[in-house]
Amino acid sequence: MEERKMYAYRCTKCGKLHHPRYIVCQNPDCDGREFEPVELGGKAKLLTWTRVYNLPEGFTQPWLNFGIVEFENGVRATGQIGFDDIENGMEVVATVGVVRNFEIRYKESVHEPEYGFIFQKP
Ligand SMILES: [Zn+2]
Repeated sequence: MEERKMYAYRCTKCGKLHHPRYIVCQNPDCDGREFEPVELGGKAKLLTWTRVYNLPEGFTQPWLNFGIVEFENGVRATGQIGFDDIENGMEVVATVGVVRNFEIRYKESVHEPEYGFIFQKP
């Protein structure tokens, strides 16, 4: 199976990094509309997190931990946290994995796995 990657998008006009992708650069002094992908991953700092119970259909675990991290390049992103002893400000490592498995029931069932960040202990 191919390796999945996550990306930030660098404005080719001013260099600002975006995640997720926008149509127009979010720098108020720039109107750039062209972006180049920059691989996003590696070490990050956990800014905040929450634990969610009563998960929607498609999840089998009793709860999931979600966090917002800041990467070393300043980009912030959300993702699942793959462990339970969590502290704000701790260092994590971003991996990419299946965060949800949708089953689309139309004629034949189709499984559409959705990929996203899963943060792990370094
Ligand atoms: Zn820009």
